[in-house]
Amino acid sequence: MSVSESVHWAGLLQGIVDDLAHERGQGHVATYIPPLANVDPNKLGIALALPSGQVFFAGDAAERFSIQSISKLFTLTLALPLDSEGLWKRVGREPSGSRFNSLVQLESERGIPRNPFINAGALVVTDVILDHLDDAKLSVLDLVRRLSGSNDIAYDLAVAQGEQATGDRNKAMAWFIRSFGNLRNSPDAVLDAYFHHCALSMSCIELAKAGVFLANGGLDAQGRRVMSLQQSKYVNALMLTCGTYDAAGEFAYRVGLAAKSGVGGGILAVLPGRFSVCVWSPGLGPTGNSLLGMKALTLLTERSGSSMF
Ligand code: GLU
Repeated sequence: MSVSESVHWAGLLQGIVDDLAHERGQGHVATYIPPLANVDPNKLGIALALPSGQVFFAGDAAERFSIQSISKLFTLTLALPLDSEGLWKRVGREPSGSRFNSLVQLESERGIPRNPFINAGALVVTDVILDHLDDAKLSVLDLVRRLSGSNDIAYDLAVAQGEQATGDRNKAMAWFIRSFGNLRNSPDAVLDAYFHHCALSMSCIELAKAGVFLANGGLDAQGRRVMSLQQSKYVNALMLTCGTYDAAGEFAYRVGLAAKSGVGGGILAVLPGRFSVCVWSPGLGPTGNSLLGMKALTLLTERSGSSMF
């Protein structure tokens, strides 16, 4: 890593935040989980982490936000080494072409969710974790703390309770999957863990650090193995094809990075072999992805000339 590359990333991220400043506040903040409705729509942060441990950032990159579906990446990261063979019998690996919280496919596909990044798939992944680990909430918390190096990362209990109170669709989904025999634990236990995982509060800097193992063949920045090289290939492939709701094709076309987004307005993206990057802007576009987040990542790959394609 040369000094000139450090300067390059720092300036590039600041330039993106500056150039998008006049667009802050665009899009619609998610309101179906009540506490998310109170988030300031003008926030914009971006952080990029290298396998060497270097991190560059700009804007509101140190502020924590609700990671929501980005947590599906970490639950999959925990579940894969525990029981990958069993997992792939219970969850598919294809884009769904439906909304992230759709029940329709589950009926015709007999309770086997299309992929681990839609809600139905994440519920089954959570069930696998509950089967193998004593405390699914603590295990995910430990994982993100270890990967990001921030020991005070916590669940936002107001967000978890807010979704517990309003998440009827996820509840219906869990019971529906259970009716096909694809949940082993009680739907209430699975939902409780799932709502908590979604309610993790992390910053762009913490998420970029936590995702760098996917840019580094499964090793984190300290050289600790998080998953095998092969498994990191699998996860990156799933992020590219299924990680950004119904916009995975458009995202690959415009941004060209493997990514997982969440309704809190965060997107964690990876260029295997090079870097992980996290952007946060709470206003969502029509596909449920952060509007400015997608623009920022498009600018990043265009200006740096680095993407998967
Ligand atoms: N907790 C949210 C839900 O299940 C996560 C959605 C998302 O970020 O895509 O609806």
